[in-house]
Amino acid sequence: MARNPRYDVLFEPVRIGPVTARNRFYAVPHASGMTNSMPHMRAAFRETKAEGGWGVVCTGYVSIDPGSDDAPLPYATLWDDDDVRSHALMTEAVHKHGALAGIELWHGGGCVMNRLNRTPSMSPSGTAWMPTHVSYIGNQRPRIMQREDIRELLESQKQAARRARTAGFDILYVYAGMGYLPYEFLLPEWNHRTDEYGGSLANRVRIVRELLEVTREAAGDQCAVALRISLEELRGRPSENAASEAHEVVQRLSGLTDLWDVKMDSETTDCAPSRFTPEGSHEPVIAFVKSLTDKPVVGVGRFTSPDTMAGQIRRGVLDLIGAARPSIADPFLPRKIAEGREEDIRECIGCNICISSWHDGVPVRCTQNPTIGEEWRRQWHPERVPPAPHRGASALVLGGGPAGLECALTLGRRGYEVTLAEAEDELGGRLRFETRLPGLATWSRVLDWRRNQLQRLSNVNVYRGNHLGADDILELQPAHLALATGARWTPLLYSPLEVPAGTVDGPGVYTPDDVAAGVALPDPVVVFDFDNYYMGSALAEHLARNGRTVKYVTPSAHVSAWAVMTNEQPQTYRALRATGVELHTLSRVESFTGGEATLVNVYTSARTRLPCGALVIVGARLPNDALYQALIARREELTAAGITSVTRIGDALAPGAIAHAVYSGHRYARELEGGKSEGLLRRDAPLRGLDTLSRPIPAPTG
Ligand code: ADP
Ligand code: SF4
Repeated sequence: MARNPRYDVLFEPVRIGPVTARNRFYAVPHASGMTNSMPHMRAAFRETKAEGGWGVVCTGYVSIDPGSDDAPLPYATLWDDDDVRSHALMTEAVHKHGALAGIELWHGGGCVMNRLNRTPSMSPSGTAWMPTHVSYIGNQRPRIMQREDIRELLESQKQAARRARTAGFDILYVYAGMGYLPYEFLLPEWNHRTDEYGGSLANRVRIVRELLEVTREAAGDQCAVALRISLEELRGRPSENAASEAHEVVQRLSGLTDLWDVKMDSETTDCAPSRFTPEGSHEPVIAFVKSLTDKPVVGVGRFTSPDTMAGQIRRGVLDLIGAARPSIADPFLPRKIAEGREEDIRECIGCNICISSWHDGVPVRCTQNPTIGEEWRRQWHPERVPPAPHRGASALVLGGGPAGLECALTLGRRGYEVTLAEAEDELGGRLRFETRLPGLATWSRVLDWRRNQLQRLSNVNVYRGNHLGADDILELQPAHLALATGARWTPLLYSPLEVPAGTVDGPGVYTPDDVAAGVALPDPVVVFDFDNYYMGSALAEHLARNGRTVKYVTPSAHVSAWAVMTNEQPQTYRALRATGVELHTLSRVESFTGGEATLVNVYTSARTRLPCGALVIVGARLPNDALYQALIARREELTAAGITSVTRIGDALAPGAIAHAVYSGHRYARELEGGKSEGLLRRDAPLRGLDTLSRPIPAPTG
């Protein structure tokens, strides 16, 4: 299909200093969870984006000096020549497809704990970052930077930039964003210096200027220099010389950078979940920079619609469409627009499971794209699947939730004759209800995309309103059977041993499944959440918005404690407070009888009584695997019916987040009957040295 001329503007080349991006699609730096110990995985992950049409593909944060050590979080390094080869693997892979490669050179300053190397970290004035989230808390404060440290910082940036050029990068970053070292110089809260690096804005911005200068020196006329910067805070500060300190920063630095990469000042605003923040939330800051500079500007906004993207360019908001999450959810997004296949774009749902992977210290995962991070390790390509060994072999998938839909789609693409049977009249499984919870409507993209793709496959038949039992299956005689029958919430309580144990039952006790089924709950409602992800808080908010008096109880110190991993914990708290939900943290429900729940403080064991008409327990889920058990008890009949495999997938195997269900459905379908990657899990290993790859790499100069 031909490209829609409306989107031609997105395919215009953009000059960035001495290099030219082939189009306006810019995969911005973002954490991949892949360190230097996973160079092949990292290269293949970024190569896929280049193959998918992105004009520029960037690394995540790359430490320029051992004094910037973010362990145990997964970061990359370019500390010495030994690190060059590992990065060259990526640039070569990206160049193969005509994209430019960018590298985000990074020093974390007072935000890193240097846990690995045990050298005290440093900040402009010894000011520490004092986060309250436990995994960021360190117990050693940074040392005050001396002039010698500043000289060494500049030298580290210069050497890292030279190595980056040697490794083949086209765009070299100075990173003055989101709390990291150069940003710390910009803000008076961090920077109390009385020398030429502190005090006036001209002094505070000096370090960024000097970092840009040394990077330019290393870049020569071969590479562009980019500045990634956060300006939200500075926009609110008056300046003697300009409308705000942010205005002055842009004016002072515009001549020194070839590209502005604008990001927000904190993780929760920079990478906000769709549950609380709409697309395009960065626009005011990006447009602000654009209005002050003639250099190209890149910014993000979780853009997935080509109309929005083209609109951003036409309205002069930015020059390059930046994307982290949309490039993860669909590495082939630009290509699909180029080929007039916009409806094939697998749109990011803004759930931030990808961010949670970084917090977990592991390669990136995605709800929408199960192949991300698996390009090399399992050899999964996002757009291609291995054909079935016996084309036309039949497969029956039971359950039309995320696992079943992904499974049916992937089996269909492989060429199986697929029947998808769903008990309910509507596809979607758990999403049928969950997308109706406050803020979660965007998650229906998981369902919409798969439903639309399935409609194109003539070898997949979808039957709704078909609840199948063991006899039906034996009659249908599929060669393969995948059970994607989901899971159910249980009324198990949380025990002092921190496991679900002991059931509370009887009138007034409910689970989220009851709320989903529309059961009317007597007021007031206690939502007891030890699942700790979104369901407890979303349910509490939903009930409160529908006029119920809601009390939220959790054994954790925080509401939706795990949601800190997806950057949505603070907003969740605010949402519950805003809807009048009463909060009881560090409490477990011990019992519930006759209109009263007994709460026990998890530390002191002190008891309190909470009047309530309904108790909704949001805790453990158990698989719906009764059908599986019934089937395997009839193994001989299965064999006689020619059913060669019966497999549980998704929540029916192990209840989890939607991302796990999609991954499970995809993996089963891709690997069925020895699909190329069956059981494959290649182990990556560090690459060291300068000698590399197919082309000679010159030694760093200077
Ligand atoms: P997952 O997240 O693993 O995809 P879901 O709970 O979202 O699981 O979806 C499971 C789906 O399976 C539900 O839509 C449910 O109606 C359907 N289902 C369960 N048992 C059967 C059955 N015996 N026949 C057909 N569909 C079923
Ligand atoms: Fe988007 Fe969620 Fe995938 Fe992240 S995990 S890219 S937020 S769909």
